[in-house]
Amino acid sequence: MKHKITLIPGDGIGPEVAEAAKRCIQATGVDIEWEKMYAGSDAFKETGNLLPQETLESVRKNKVALKGPIVTPIGEGFRSVNVAIRHELDLFACVRPAKTYPGVKSYYKDIDLVIIRENSEDLYAGIEFEQGKDDTEKLIKDIEKYSAKKIHQGSGISIKPISEFATQRIVKFAFEYAIKNNRRKITVVTKANIMKFTDGLFLKVARAISKQYTQKIQFEEALVDNMAMQLVQKPHNFDILVLPNLYGDILSDLCAGLVGGLGVAPGANLGDDLAVFEAVHGSAPKYKGLNKVNPTAMILSGVLMLRHIKEDKAADRLENAVKEVISEGRFVTYDLKADPKDPSCVGTKEMADAIINKITGR
Ligand code: NAD
Repeated sequence: MKHKITLIPGDGIGPEVAEAAKRCIQATGVDIEWEKMYAGSDAFKETGNLLPQETLESVRKNKVALKGPIVTPIGEGFRSVNVAIRHELDLFACVRPAKTYPGVKSYYKDIDLVIIRENSEDLYAGIEFEQGKDDTEKLIKDIEKYSAKKIHQGSGISIKPISEFATQRIVKFAFEYAIKNNRRKITVVTKANIMKFTDGLFLKVARAISKQYTQKIQFEEALVDNMAMQLVQKPHNFDILVLPNLYGDILSDLCAGLVGGLGVAPGANLGDDLAVFEAVHGSAPKYKGLNKVNPTAMILSGVLMLRHIKEDKAADRLENAVKEVISEGRFVTYDLKADPKDPSCVGTKEMADAIINKITGR
């Protein structure tokens, strides 16, 4: 069956890793027509728009996209294009597997965790009020009226919405994902002891939904600070973590660190109907154009994409090829070498070539 898929190369290292992933996916022989669309700084240069409507329309039409990372400047300028894509397309679930591939340098062996992050709410909702603005000062006064808490004048404010609707949706998704993928346990991670009306609501809803699944999936609760410590000390105790947006973002990077770093951590953003696959890592601007970074995270995002479009055999072949190249340790990028300065490390393109050679048996 022919598939039409939107390819968004992104910026920074995005185009390099996206191209590597595309070539590896093509090598599996799956019939894909790629529709290349722009978002991020390249789109801005071309169209004056960071996220052109045509790019969103292409994903809506094709239902599936593979996306490279896109830069978000800290504390100034535009809000994240990545977050805007998730919001615009209602990609409410972010699924990030963290799995050890033999040969990857890590303090841990045999990790097999999945982060399921709520993608639409929380402090990531982008509801912010800038320091010093009239509206912000008015808001501060109103909040003080209702809460009897003092907020310093000149504060900036970010709002953390958590709803019953979005929490039900993500927790149900996590349980259904667990059943479909033969997983055993879900841990809901919050800071419900402090943020009683937001994280507390998330936990309350998760507890209620877990009751529908008691026969099939084990359920437990953890506080996010303690979870960070437990993940470092005994990551094998966990299976699937379901979390509000910001904790999911932070613990995704921690889990990537357990399995060899951002170079090997893939992800998927899923909605009811649409899916955008992207690595956990960002656009690493300092490596842009150097043919240096690891394409694995993006290629493994491609593996998740192939499974999503029901091309499981191709997904297996691609994943096995990645596994072999990593475990042989020859044609790998600097981050997968014991010494990152090892002169025998290869570039992004050459690592992709090695993976393609495994697939095609050359
Ligand atoms: P980053 O993930 O881009 O890079 C941090 C470091 O991780 C890099 O300096 C590098 O050492 C390592 N790294 C990342 N990807 C790698 C790879 N493929 N191979 C080897 N090493 C790799 O994080 P950052 O520097 O905090 O963010 C850069 C920009 O990317 C920011 O603007 C940020 O907002 C954005 N970002 C985008 C996404 C996305 O597109 N979904 C995700 C995270 C961050």
